[in-house]
Amino acid sequence: MRKSLKIIRTPGMDLAADGASRFSGGMQGLARFLTSEVSTDNGAFTFKGREALLEPAAALDEILGKRTPDRTISVLKGAQVGMTTLAIGFALYCVIVHRLNVGYFLPDQDFADRFDQTRVRPVIRNESIASIMRDGKYRGASPKGLKEFPGPGGSRFLYILGLRDIGNAISIPLDVLVRDEVDDLPPDNLKWSNDRIDASPLALTLNLAVGRTPGAGIHAMYEAGDRRRWRVKCPACRAESVPEEHWPGILCANGLVCPDCGGALDRGAGRWKAAHVKPRHRSYRLSQLAVGAVRLDRVAAKWAAASLPSEKARFRCSSLAIPDAGDTQPISHELLRSLRDAAPYHLAEAPA
Ligand SMILES: [Zn+2]
Repeated sequence: MRKSLKIIRTPGMDLAADGASRFSGGMQGLARFLTSEVSTDNGAFTFKGREALLEPAAALDEILGKRTPDRTISVLKGAQVGMTTLAIGFALYCVIVHRLNVGYFLPDQDFADRFDQTRVRPVIRNESIASIMRDGKYRGASPKGLKEFPGPGGSRFLYILGLRDIGNAISIPLDVLVRDEVDDLPPDNLKWSNDRIDASPLALTLNLAVGRTPGAGIHAMYEAGDRRRWRVKCPACRAESVPEEHWPGILCANGLVCPDCGGALDRGAGRWKAAHVKPRHRSYRLSQLAVGAVRLDRVAAKWAAASLPSEKARFRCSSLAIPDAGDTQPISHELLRSLRDAAPYHLAEAPA
């Protein structure tokens, strides 16, 4: 595996080097690849207004560069924070620059097909990268969603697949697993995806999703990791706060304010701090409040429009990245126990 550290030059790699020369911000590796090769709806990908994404990108890059085995990064995210674009760019970077096989798993095959057309192809800025990517062929693998990147030493593959349809069983051994919006998948499907990287000496996993269920899915993954939160320091009193934990009191007409002294906060000027040490599993809670590119007036308007508990719950999931099941609290042992205590309920199978 170490041998593959030597970067084999491909057309894409030459382009990455050319693109890099346009940037002098000291960015390297994945960050540079993202800003030079990846597009968003508003032009080239930038970390301006998305400063909180720099550390996860650097962490992924370090794992790839050192070929550190068996690492997981999980991002419990708000909607529209730019993390999916980063994940797509990361997948392309793994294949093109590091010559690894990547599985990009989405909830189901329809989602995966749409994703390929609407998210993956549009992010590729450089036509030469698009042109070296071709519909893939691999023995025993369904060609659907399979992208092949030929190069010296053989082709590498990016496989974009719906994870609910396990009938899609694949024979390509993967080095990197990206699981996007897979919050409501049955645990068996997640385990199946884990097995795809068992044979890899790298076995790197990136999980990202908006969490919907406390204690399950991406929220459980976040809890299992080192639980990083974005702490913003107040320039006036020097106190640090985690904005989403003080919502809505932290909001004022002009932006976010320090919960301690009321001083104005710059939400991009934060730092990630882990709750405990867990070297194999970094986890981030990335709310919309940490991302300046997400307009605060829109976040505030959504909050103002949420009056029902279920709407507030949806807001907490999609904006604050704090999963709240609202009215759809899943049936738990505690709930069943309290029902049994309250009245003589009996559980039986539903009639056919
Ligand atoms: Zn303050």
